[in-house]
Amino acid sequence: MMETIFRFKKFNKTIYASIILIIILLAFSSPILGYEIDVELMNPYQDINWDSINYYKANLHTHTRRSDGFHSPLTVINEYRKNNYDILALTDHNKYTWPWKEYGINYKNTKLIAIDGSEISNTHHLGSYFNDYASNESSENKVLSEIKRRDGIAVFFHPGRYNKKIDWYKYYYKKYDNLVGIEVFNKNDRYSNDRKLWDRLLFELMPDYPVWGFGNDDMHNITTDLGWHFNVFLMKANTRDNIKKAMVNGHFYIYNPKKQNESMNFFIKEVLVENSSIKLSVKGNYKKIEWIAYNTITERSEVFATGNKVDVSDYIYKTNYVRAKVISETGIIYTQPFGIKY
Ligand SMILES: [Zn+2]
Repeated sequence: MMETIFRFKKFNKTIYASIILIIILLAFSSPILGYEIDVELMNPYQDINWDSINYYKANLHTHTRRSDGFHSPLTVINEYRKNNYDILALTDHNKYTWPWKEYGINYKNTKLIAIDGSEISNTHHLGSYFNDYASNESSENKVLSEIKRRDGIAVFFHPGRYNKKIDWYKYYYKKYDNLVGIEVFNKNDRYSNDRKLWDRLLFELMPDYPVWGFGNDDMHNITTDLGWHFNVFLMKANTRDNIKKAMVNGHFYIYNPKKQNESMNFFIKEVLVENSSIKLSVKGNYKKIEWIAYNTITERSEVFATGNKVDVSDYIYKTNYVRAKVISETGIIYTQPFGIKY
């Protein structure tokens, strides 16, 4: 009897082991057998008609003497005009520097589109746009609710200055659809860990909650701060409505000139997404294109592929998004993330 029971148990174990082995074999052999996993690519640039857009240069984080900046609003605005910017937001700490005509701006004389906003600064610093909220409030929830109530949009600034956990950020991005992005370049890259955090966040939130990356001067001093990183908006016409839509939908990329204030001499001409592949076509000279995502094993931002085309079906077990970096002798373009759904 004892022996029978023992043998029965042994037999059972063998069956379980075999079933598990068959499942494992099936799972790993499916690509060999010709099964393909459906991949859906979420392209932030999908709605862009590349034949009819223009490229607009934007700085969305700027200080004046109204808070801790060195210069008057008029000097700051004129300096950005001189440097061929198309879009500017004055974001004084907890202050609403608006309307610009109060600071001597004649709108008829400028093509520069003015975005109203502030930098909410008693919380994790936050860029607040398209609304008049300016407050010493210290609760992020209250601030983000107030911005939302005013139909404004928000971006977390220089996350590298804080020691917030990833879950802290996740909570706000999931809760507030008007919190559209994160600043991943500040001045001449004061916080290089900002991209690592961005990639980690994207890994946690893509493709359902995209977080757009912004690059800004955080301008206090014209000489040292102006012209290190800017956002290139991809729009048919430069209007406040279009800018707001582009900020919400990720219709822009970041540019980092190698030398301060150097103008851009290469552009993304088109983004083509077909099935599981993304192809960038670039106008002008560039050295290489890297496709970056978060590697969960090394816990770092890593280059997954190079070249102007990537097929994400090669990486689906490794990542749920990918973003591109176009590198030239004169500067670097950073695209928004492409989500991968499978
Ligand atoms: Zn600032």
